[in-house]
This record gives sequence, structure tokens and C-alpha cells, in this order.
Amino acid sequence: MKAIELIPGVLLLLALLAGCTEQAAEDPGSDPAMPQAEAPESRAAAIQRATADIDGARIVVAEAENWLSTGRTYDEQRHSPLDQINRETVSDLGLAWYWDTDTRRGLEATPIVVDGVMFTTGTWSVVWAHDAKTGELLWEYDPQVPRAWGRYACCDVVNRGVAAWKGRVYVGTLDGRLVALDAGTGEPAWDVSTIPPDRAYTITGAPRILKDKVIIGNGGAEYGVRGYITAYDAASGERLWRFYTVPGNPEDGFESEDMELAAATWQGGKWWEVGGGGTVWDSMAFDPELNLLYIGTGNGSPWNRYIRSPGGGDNLYLSSIVAIDADTGRRAWHYQTTPGDTWDYTAVQHMILADIEIDGRLRKVIMQAPKNGFFYVIDRTNGEFISAEAYVPVTWATHVDPETGRPVENPEAHYANEKKRVRPGPLGGHNWHPMTYHPGTGLVYIPALDLRFDFAQDNAFRYVPENWNTGVDLMATAPPPTVEENLDNLAAIKGFLAAWDPVGQQEVWRVQHATAWNGGLLSTAGGLVFQGRADGRFAAYAADTGELLWESPTYVGIIAAPVSYSIDGEQYVSVVAGWGGAYAVASGAPRHRDNVLTEGRILTYRLNGDETLPQPEVTYLAVPTPPAMDYAPEQLERGEEAFHAYCAVCHGPGVGTSGTITSLLYASHATHEIWNAIVVDGAYTEMGMPDFSHALDAEGAQDIRAYVIERTKGMIAFCESSYREEYPELLDTACEIPQVTGS
Ligand code: CA
Repeated sequence: MKAIELIPGVLLLLALLAGCTEQAAEDPGSDPAMPQAEAPESRAAAIQRATADIDGARIVVAEAENWLSTGRTYDEQRHSPLDQINRETVSDLGLAWYWDTDTRRGLEATPIVVDGVMFTTGTWSVVWAHDAKTGELLWEYDPQVPRAWGRYACCDVVNRGVAAWKGRVYVGTLDGRLVALDAGTGEPAWDVSTIPPDRAYTITGAPRILKDKVIIGNGGAEYGVRGYITAYDAASGERLWRFYTVPGNPEDGFESEDMELAAATWQGGKWWEVGGGGTVWDSMAFDPELNLLYIGTGNGSPWNRYIRSPGGGDNLYLSSIVAIDADTGRRAWHYQTTPGDTWDYTAVQHMILADIEIDGRLRKVIMQAPKNGFFYVIDRTNGEFISAEAYVPVTWATHVDPETGRPVENPEAHYANEKKRVRPGPLGGHNWHPMTYHPGTGLVYIPALDLRFDFAQDNAFRYVPENWNTGVDLMATAPPPTVEENLDNLAAIKGFLAAWDPVGQQEVWRVQHATAWNGGLLSTAGGLVFQGRADGRFAAYAADTGELLWESPTYVGIIAAPVSYSIDGEQYVSVVAGWGGAYAVASGAPRHRDNVLTEGRILTYRLNGDETLPQPEVTYLAVPTPPAMDYAPEQLERGEEAFHAYCAVCHGPGVGTSGTITSLLYASHATHEIWNAIVVDGAYTEMGMPDFSHALDAEGAQDIRAYVIERTKGMIAFCESSYREEYPELLDTACEIPQVTGS
């Protein structure tokens, strides 16, 4: 628990504290005599002036010095026309300023920058306004998300940023609210709940604003929800329209013809009891000329189609790109990437609009690299399929049929009766990390993942609201028991940066990274592609060749996407650095040795910047000997089952070691002593560790402890094996967790 997360009250008017460090900001109430350096109105009024006329026209024009919408423009190309930092000058790039967020969980936000002011978000949906030239904090808004709600965040307590519009900034909060803030002061103008209170919805995505409507979706399909997006009036917060992505119980009638059409594609199950899924948790795009809003929809809830819709069917509008009339909220067309999805293959991934020449015709296209591993080019005027090819190794389908636009499934990926190893895994060939399109090279750049997963049906599945409701047995994908298999498992974790030609549907170049879950992307007219990496470095690559031109240590893995802007004629590149997200909490994969998990930071670079990051002192910790405990094989078995039913989604299948949430392999003897108080009685609820009294009694908690101890012993044996010398890179990473000392 970080000090800044404990600040009471909803608003910190740090504009009052101009010039204070963030250390002072941690406890602003402690010094009532703190001088007010300048009148707050002047700064707040200046920000108000700068943001007052942000509207759709300005987002379309997209002045080079600003970054006005999360994808920079409605087409979401994430390409900056600035070129002062370029192939020739990038070697002089240096840190201009940094700002410590005082958090150690995932930071995924893309900042909005307008006339020298930067708006961004951190963990638990906190919003910050900074001077984009100096890093000075102007204000902070904390929506006071109840920490207990963190249990519903499948993929960490992250937020991907704000939207700005007519003097306000808008944020969706983890507990399902949409809040409008005064851009000058951070004071809330309105705050509405966008979710029913009895379902485990979360918001992590950035809102989009078009035609005075704030559009917001949500997540939660792993827990059991029904997906939708809602449009709210930007001025008043009044709800204008809602588009559900999957049908409810047909007996209740349908909200629209779209839902009636969709219901015919769900067969035999009671999907509405679990929720159906199809959540719109991240990507959107907008074409003002066509007046179409594009949304990407998520996986089914539960994942497992043999439970969700046992009679078959495509299950519309899961895993789809849906084009929606921006005024009415009605569907114009849809294209489903994974009909009848059963592998968590969401299509919420970044969508890019561009006009490109294909077969001698200028086509208005929408492009996406969804989780299922195929890169799609679709006609965005009518949803017509143009082409799709695999951008990562794919085993669930052989190809996408060019005539029908439907994938041809591989029966070897069907896991209803037996465990099947499938690529990509549920984290996808590409997750939420933004891509970029460079109009100069004509290439789309993809922060790609190559991960496999062992799927098996959970035959004991029943819907429990507090639980992970996927219908998939996570035990099947726990790291294998033998040293050799474990080694093979580690070697299979891959991530890379790909340059993809959307016309030829092929990879042009690839940079293989040290490990998986690398950051989102920015391309610039300077011929560069910027990316932060999972090995704790921020880098610039040549957009045409992939050559590494510059990199700088950041000590913490970066997952967010950079932005670029200019102030007083000087170009800046900024990125939010903080390791976390789905891979870090749930994959069980070890993190890179150089990703030492310093606290989160906003990092801003310019040519000849001469600021330096404090170099952390790092020690590497081996897995400690666990306390002695006597347990029988039956207790271990029960513990393994319960661990994967309740714990693995945060603490990693097989007791993983990846990340930002405590690795139970490293649990101290003191922690073991108060095990039941934590697991059953909720001793750490305020730290985001829920109590599991709804599912576990004292004995059940001890079963889990037995399993954790057994896995810890197994890990120690693995790390002491002779393979340690043979494969030092793999085993050093898995066996020694980097720890910043003195923090
Ligand atoms: Ca999912």
C-alpha cells in the first residue's frame, strides 16, 4: 500500500502546491502552514484556456505539437508528425524530466498533451495533470476506488488514460464509474456509475469522445458479465444510448433487432446466467465522415464454448469488430474474428483506420491484430473482409478462408474432452499494447507475443460471482513437474516487435526481444519507432529496417505506449513506466532480471536532456527454504485444485514468480504463520488481497499452503539442478528475483 493511495478525500488540489515535490504531495495535510506559492486560479485558468476548445474538429486536425486523444487522432494511428528527433539526432536523446508515481503496479496509460499540459492516469484510476515541460505536478484526482474491488481486476488495477474535451478530462474508474473533471483544477464536475452493482465489472480503458458523447465500455468477462458500451452526454453525464454486445435471456425480450439476430447464434446453453461476455474493455476508433464508431469486443463469458453454447453457433457479437452509428448506437455492420471463441481470443485489440491502396484501389480500411494471431484488413465502410494472415505462430486454425473470411479451425485445438496445447494462449499474439501505423513506410508495427497455453475443460464448473468463471481448468497450464519440461516451458516465452506490411500481409522485419510483454508503440515522422521493453529499457528503432538506434535503462519494465509533443519548438517523447498487467499477475512467467521493479514513473525525453534516473541498488534473491509442514498426498491434491480455482489468477499457475503481486514462493515464515488470517479472515484486504471465506475454511487454506510449500521445494530443486550452468539465462531469471534494496 503506497502512501499516495491512502490520501483521504477525493481531491488533492496540488495546483496550490506549485513547486512542491511529490514527497510533499504524499502528505499534504501534515503541514497546514505550507505556503501557497501562487494563486491557484492563474494556473488553473491557463489550463482551462488551453483545453476549452478541444473538440472533434481539433482532434481531426491534430496539430503536431499536441496529443489530444488516446490514439492521437480518431483513426488511432499513433503517429506523430514531429521530426526534430530523427534517425540522425536520436543518439542525442536524453531524459528531460521524470516523476515518481509512488506505485508498484501496472501503468498502462497513454498521456494526453495539450499546450504544455499532460494528463495521465495511474493505478487505481488516479488522474494526474503535469507541466509537460518540467514534470511539475499541477493536480491529482483520486477517485477512491475501494481496494476490495481490485479482486475483480482480472488484469491488474490498471488504467489506460483519459479523454479531454471542452475544458474537461474524463476517466473511467476501476469500480465502473465515469467521472468528468475540470481540466484546470481536477475537481469533479459529474460522476456516474456505468455498471449494475451486483456484477464484477471493471473499467480500465480510456474513454473516447465524439460529437459531445463520451463513450465508455468495461471489462469483467472472466468473472461473468454481459458486455456493452454506453454513450454519455459530455456536459451533463446523462446516458444517451447503450449497445449490448451479446444477447440477454431471450425470455426477457430483446433490447434491439441486433440482439435478436445475435441470440439465434447462441445454442443450447444458459449463457445469460454467467453473462455471455463480449466486453469492450479497450479499443475504439471513429470515422467522422462515415459517422461510424468502431468497437472491439471480447471473449465469451465463460471462455469455454462447450459450456457457454453447447449446441454450437458463432455467438455474436463476441470477438468482433462492430461498427456502430455514432448518433443512434445501432449496429451498422460487424466482422467476427473468432466465431464461437473458446480460447479467450478477444478482438478488443488496437484498431487502426487508414486509406491504403490494395490491388490498385484506394480502400478505407480498419486493421487489427487481435489475440487470435491473425492480422486483419477489413473494409471499414461495410465490414467486407479483405485479407488476413498469421502474424505469430497459430495452431487453433489453419488459415482464414479468403472467400468467406472465416477461420478454418484445427480440431486439435478442441479441448472439451482432453487437454490441448494451443498457440496463441489467452494473452494472445498481441494484447492491449498499442500498435502504430507509419504513413511514410506504410507499415503497421505490432508489439507481438508468442506464448502457448494448455487448455482443459473445468468439468466441475459452476458460476460463482466472486470467482474467475472461465470453464477452463488453470491447473492444466501450471508449469510442468519435471526439470526438463519446466526448462522447455521457460524457453517458449517469447516477445518481439514486428513491422507488418498490411497490403502484402507479411512481416517486413522483426526485433526479437529478451522476453514477453513489451510496451506499446509510437511512430514518428523522424523515421522512428519507440518502444519501452519488458527488460527495463526504452528504445528507438529505425522504422524502415528495425535497427536499434538508441536505448536507455529505465530499471522497470515498460508496458504503456509513448507519445510525442512539442513545447516552444522543442520535441519531447514521453512514456509511463510501470510493470504489471495480465502477464505480470497471471502468467506465472518470471520477469527479466533487469526489470527490477523500481517504482512507477513518467519518463520524458528530449534532445540533449541531461536529467538522470537514480540507479537502484539491486540484489538477487534465491527462493528461500519454506517452513516445515507435514502433509499427505491427498491434502496436496486438494491444495493444488483450490490454488488454481482461487489463487492462480493473481499468484500464477503452479505458483508463479512474475511480478508485481507477491510471489508466494518467497512468502516469509512470518507470512506462513498468519496464513489463515490473510486467506480466510481478510487481514490484507486493504492491500488488495481479498478474503476467501466464501470458498475456503481454515482447513482449505492450509491445503493451499501445503501446495505452495511443495511447489517452493520443487522450485529450489529446479534451481539447484545441473541445468543451472547449462542454461544460465533461463534459470537465473526464473530462480533469482531482483530486489531493489533500501526501498
Ligand atoms: Ca479475456
